[in-house]
Amino acid sequence: MTVDLDAVAENWRALAGRAAGAECAAVVKADAYGLGAAEVGPALSRAGCRTFFVACPREGIALRQALAEASAEIFVLDGHVKGETARYDRHALTPVLGTLEGVAIWSRHARDRGGRRAALMLDTGMTRLGIGASDAGLFAAEPDRLAGIGIACAMSHLACADTPSHPLNARQKAAFDTMRAALPAAPASFANSAGIFLGPDFHYDLVRPGAALYGLSVVPGRPNAMKRAVRLQARILQTRFVDTETPVGYGADRLIAAGSTLATIAMGYADGLPRALGDRGGGRIAGRTVPLVGRVSMDLATLDVTGATPDLVRPGLAVDLIDDDHDADALAAEAGTIGYEILARIGGRVRRVYRGGGNGSHA
Ligand SMILES: *Cc1c(COP(=O)(O)O)cnc(C)c1O
Repeated sequence: MTVDLDAVAENWRALAGRAAGAECAAVVKADAYGLGAAEVGPALSRAGCRTFFVACPREGIALRQALAEASAEIFVLDGHVKGETARYDRHALTPVLGTLEGVAIWSRHARDRGGRRAALMLDTGMTRLGIGASDAGLFAAEPDRLAGIGIACAMSHLACADTPSHPLNARQKAAFDTMRAALPAAPASFANSAGIFLGPDFHYDLVRPGAALYGLSVVPGRPNAMKRAVRLQARILQTRFVDTETPVGYGADRLIAAGSTLATIAMGYADGLPRALGDRGGGRIAGRTVPLVGRVSMDLATLDVTGATPDLVRPGLAVDLIDDDHDADALAAEAGTIGYEILARIGGRVRRVYRGGGNGSHA
C-alpha cells in the first residue's frame, strides 16, 4: 500500500478552503481509515491541522505520541470516561461526552483538577451516540451539571449528508440549533466530509472530515474532486498456463478454460481483499484489467491474466488492486460495500510505504 501524504495534505487544504471561516479538523480514527495515523497525523499537523478526532483512547494515545505539536487537540469520539479520566489526563485527550453520566463523571473530575475541556455530542436524529433533546434541556435548568467543564465544542453528526436532498439534513440542523441554544455559548461542529459539501450553513465553527482527506468519494453520483491517496498492490507468487479446463480455488466452482494463464497473488481477505469479490472485479496490470477468478482465500487470490504482457506477469512482480483509475470506491462497488470499509480493513500485514508529507522521504 502506497500512501501519498501530499495528496492527503492537499485534500485537507482543499476542504479547509471549502469551509473557509470554519476551522478544519481531521478525523484519523481507525488508523486514519487504514492509511496509518502515525504518518497521516504528523503530515496533517505539518500542513496546519490543529484538531484531530479518534475513536477511542488507545488511538488517542498513539496519535499523541506521534504528533510533535504538543498543542494539537485530540478528541476521543467514544467519550467513555468512566474509569478512564487518568488516561485522558496523562495523554492530554479531550473526551466527546454523549451521556449525562459521562458529563457527571467529567464534571466531578474537572472540578477536582481546576477545569477540563470536553466536547458535547448532541443526538439530533442519527440515534447513535449523543445527548438527546430532553437531556440537553436539563443543562439550561441545571447549569451546575457542566461545572468545571470548558465546552470545547457542541457537536452533532449527520446521518444523511451523502444525500444532499434528504429531508433529515435540515431537520437535524434545526434540532442542533435548538439544542445548542440550551447550552452555554461554545463553538459548534456539525459537518463530516459530506456535510462540508452541503454548503456554508452546515459548516459552523469546526468541520470534521475523514473520508475526503483520504481521497474517497463522499457524495455518491457526484464527480470526486479529491486527490486519490492510496495505491494497493499485491505480489504475484506463481503463474500457470492452463492446458486443460480446470476448476480454480475453494469449492472448485469456477472453471477456467484451456489456454488461459492464471496468476496467484499474495493477498486475501485477511489483508482486506473482500471475500465478496470472488469471481467479481479484478486487478490491473499496466492498466489492463485482469479479472479475479474463483474464491478469494485468506492469504491468496487468483487472477486470469490471459492476454497480459507476459513480461509483466512474473512471480515477484506487482498487480494493482487500487490505483487512481480504479480507486477504493470502484473496488468497493464490485464488492457491494463502500470505499470507507475497503480502506479501513486493509490488514496490518500489508506494508505501508509513504510518499511526501513534508518530512523528507519515507521508506
Ligand atoms: C467518522 C466521523 C466523522 C468523519 O466522517 P467522514 O464521512 O469520514 O468525513 C466525523 N464525525 C464523526 C462523529 C464521525 O464518527
